[in-house]
Amino acid sequence: MFDEGGWNKEDGGEALSQALLCPRHRPAQHCILAPRGSLQKQRRRLLATLQRLEASSCTDPPQSPGPLSGDSESESDSAGRAGRKQPRKQRQGLKPRAASSPGVAPGAPSACGAPHPGPEPGPAGRRRRKDSAAEAPGDSARAPRKEQPSRELGAAAGRPVPLLTRKQWRNKQKNKRRQKNKFKAGAGQDVGQGLGAGQDVGQGTSALPPSEPSGVLRARMEERLQSARFRYINQQLYTSSSQEAAQLFQRDPAAFAIYHRGFARQVGRWPENPVHRIIQYLRGRPASLVVADFGCGDCKIATSVRNKVHSFDLVALSPCVTVCDMAKVPLADESVDVTVFCLALMGTNLREILEEANRVLRPGGTLKVAEVASRFADIRAFVSAVTQLGFQIVSKDLDNPFFYMFDFSKTGQPRAGGSLPGLALRPCLYKKR
Ligand code: SAH
Repeated sequence: MFDEGGWNKEDGGEALSQALLCPRHRPAQHCILAPRGSLQKQRRRLLATLQRLEASSCTDPPQSPGPLSGDSESESDSAGRAGRKQPRKQRQGLKPRAASSPGVAPGAPSACGAPHPGPEPGPAGRRRRKDSAAEAPGDSARAPRKEQPSRELGAAAGRPVPLLTRKQWRNKQKNKRRQKNKFKAGAGQDVGQGLGAGQDVGQGTSALPPSEPSGVLRARMEERLQSARFRYINQQLYTSSSQEAAQLFQRDPAAFAIYHRGFARQVGRWPENPVHRIIQYLRGRPASLVVADFGCGDCKIATSVRNKVHSFDLVALSPCVTVCDMAKVPLADESVDVTVFCLALMGTNLREILEEANRVLRPGGTLKVAEVASRFADIRAFVSAVTQLGFQIVSKDLDNPFFYMFDFSKTGQPRAGGSLPGLALRPCLYKKR
């Protein structure tokens, strides 16, 4: 267990106690019996060993962050607390290798033999503190500096200064960090709870970015609502008679604005708006021609050409609109040169509507129709049906994938009676996006 010569029984280890007792307490016969020279030599050797061992037993391992050995309270504390936890360290301290540590002061054994009575470390202790710091600069640089102020304060106040073992010091730092993190986490929780509570009671909403997300969400919801309303109104217009459509907007004028916003958005997605084609056409014709715009919307035609334009719609989006059902417009018979239905053949009573157009058109006058392409199940049947109403086909433009355009001229009065299934255009219903 111990390498030091003369310590083990086999090496005459009992001589240690005897050597220590000599010359004052040793029985006389032992002193007499032992050869003088060798006895003194052995005694010196054993004394030196004992000194080293004693010194090392009260000196911390060299890696210790704190100057522990010189502080008795710390020692007793360490012995009481850490000592129980650190038998390995104590064993290390007893190793002869530790005795050769530069931290061991030559005069230390006497100070280490018993618990230190006072708080003030002795000069040897202070020296060791320095030495041990020099041994482990990394540790000493970290640990003792933090502890120093409180230690100095304690020392100044004359109170016992508690010093910690390396392990204790680490635990303390760990606990400090834990406390700090706990506090931080607590603060985080508070904020989080505040937000949560804010959402519930409205208190925390002030902490949120002011109304931006809710504003965006609200706008999106409103847009969806408007889209749904547009689809509903649009469907009503295509699946009911012109009289019913008129009643719908009379009951709910706001619905008209919603419908028109939706309509403008839908047509805005097209590469070309058919109303512009019609405007182009009129601009290429004499300005003297009187025009009747059935289902004029926002009066684009009337505001874009020099011609006299009668604009009819169910609700007035513009002052130039005459509010009426297009199946019964306030115009004299054969009073206009051009009748226009731009995306406006909406009711289920198209025969009635087209007969009204025939009525106001002068003979030879032009019926212009622009309609959503997908509404036509049978173009030939449609053209044939219109022909039955006193018109003949002049031109048709089916090139555009979104809308078809037809030009008819009035040939006479509508033929009486009979059904015209070719006039039944599909309703133009928009899909929910
Ligand atoms: N021609 C315009 C608007 C087309 S939207 C343009 O191309 O920009 C279809 C229009 O027809 C709507 O404004 C709608 O209100 C109108 N409309 C539908 N049925 C109608 C009816 N029975 N009487 C009058 N206008 C009608």
